[in-house]
Amino acid sequence: MNAFSFYNPVKLIFGKGQLEAVKKELPKYGKKVLVVYGGGSIKKNGLYDEVMAALGEAGLEIFELAGVEPNPRISTARKGIEICKKEGIEMLLAVGGGSVIDCTKLIACGAKYDGDAWDLVSRKAKATDGLPFGTVLTIAATGSEMNAGSVITNEETQEKYGWGSPFSFPKFSILDPTYTLTVPKDQTIYGIVDMMSHIFEQYFNNAVNTPVQDRMCEGVLKAVIETAPKLMEDLNSYEHRETILFAGTMGLNKFLEMGYNGDWGTHNIEHAVSAVYDIPHAGGLAILFPQWMRHNVKQNPSRFAQMAERVFEVDPEGKTAEEVAYEGIDRLQQFWTSLGAPTRLEDYEIDDSKIEIIADKAMVYGEFGNFAKMDKENVIEILQASL
Ligand code: NAP
Ligand code: FE
Repeated sequence: MNAFSFYNPVKLIFGKGQLEAVKKELPKYGKKVLVVYGGGSIKKNGLYDEVMAALGEAGLEIFELAGVEPNPRISTARKGIEICKKEGIEMLLAVGGGSVIDCTKLIACGAKYDGDAWDLVSRKAKATDGLPFGTVLTIAATGSEMNAGSVITNEETQEKYGWGSPFSFPKFSILDPTYTLTVPKDQTIYGIVDMMSHIFEQYFNNAVNTPVQDRMCEGVLKAVIETAPKLMEDLNSYEHRETILFAGTMGLNKFLEMGYNGDWGTHNIEHAVSAVYDIPHAGGLAILFPQWMRHNVKQNPSRFAQMAERVFEVDPEGKTAEEVAYEGIDRLQQFWTSLGAPTRLEDYEIDDSKIEIIADKAMVYGEFGNFAKMDKENVIEILQASL
C-alpha cells in the first residue's frame, strides 16, 4: 500500500424520511441560508416544497439561487457569491445533483475569497475559508455529496477543471432514495457510468499489496452491475434506487482510495471534451474509458485481467493475461451499451476537427495519470480511437 492519511468529515444521513434532519443540522450554522438548485426538477417532484417547508419550520431566513446548469458554470457560481456577500449569507444548502453541489462548493469558498472565484478553480489561488453548507442529493452519480471535489466550467474560455479544498466538504448530506425515483432513464444511466468510472479511476493505480481495497472496489462494482439492469427494468424501484444511491457515494467518498493513488486520467480527458462540447460528463466517460483501458492494458496486463475475472467473470482458462484483459474491457463496454450508454464520440456528433484543441486543454497542467502517464500524443490516440 501507499502511505496515506484519511480525512472525511461529512455527516452522511441516509434513508427514507431523513429530510427532517435538515431542521436540526442547518441552524447550527446561523439563520440566513442560500438554497441552491438546478433547472427545476425539484419543483416538479415536490422536493422544493418539502425543503422550503422544513427550512421555514426551522425559522431560517431563505435566499435562493436557481438554474445551476448540468456542467455548472462559473458565471452561475459568481451570481451565488454575490448574493452571499451582499446579503450576509451564513450557510448554504445544495438541493440537487453533482452539478448543484459542485457549484455550491465554489460559492461557499468564493464567498470567503476576495478575488474572482475562477482563481480557485484554475489553481491561481487556494481557498483559505468557506461558508458551511449541507446537501440534499437528488441523483446517484458523482459522490460529490461526500467529498471535497468540485468541477466547474468557464463557458467563455471553454475550460473545465476540478478543484477542491479542505473547506469544500459538505457539513452534512441527506440522501433519501425517494427523491431519486424521478431521475429519468438517461440520467440514471449516466450516474451508473460515472460511479463505475470513479471506481476504475481508483482501481488502476501502481500500489502493491492492496487486497482489501481491491475487494472493496470489486464488490461495489459487482453490486452495481447486478442492480443496474434491474433498475433499468423498473425505474420506480425504491430498493434498486437505494442500492445505486449508496454505491455512488461509496464510489467517490475516498474510502476506496486509501492506500491507492488512483489514475484519474480519463476524467481529465473527459473534462477537456465536455469543456469544448458541453456533453454529459458520464456520456463522455462511457466512450473514453474503454479506450483508455485498451490503450493501457500493456502497462500492467494482470491488473486488467484481475478486474476481468473478478468483476466481469471472464474465464481465464487457456488465455494470456492480455487476452483476459481485453475480454474484460469488451464486457464492460457491452454492459454499458446494454444499459443505453453511448459508445462513440460520433453519438454526440463530435468529429476529429477539434481533437488538437481538446488535447491541449487536457494537457494544461502537463502530463497526467498516476497509473499510466499521458502525454499529448497518448491523449490524441485515445480520442482518435473514440471517434
Ligand atoms: P447533474 O448534472 O447534477 O444533473 C443532471 C440532470 O439530472 C439535470 O438536468 C437535473 O435536473 C436532473 N436531475 C437531478 N436529480 C433529478 C431528480 N431527482 N429527478 C429528475 N431529474 C433530476 O448530474 P450529476 O451526474 O450528479 O453531476 C454531473 C456533474 O458533476 C458534472 O459537471 C461532472 O463533471 C461533475 N462531477 C463531479 C464530481 C465530484 O466529485 N465533485 C465527480 C464526478 C463528476 P435539474 O437541473 O432540473 O435539477
Ligand atoms: Fe465523474
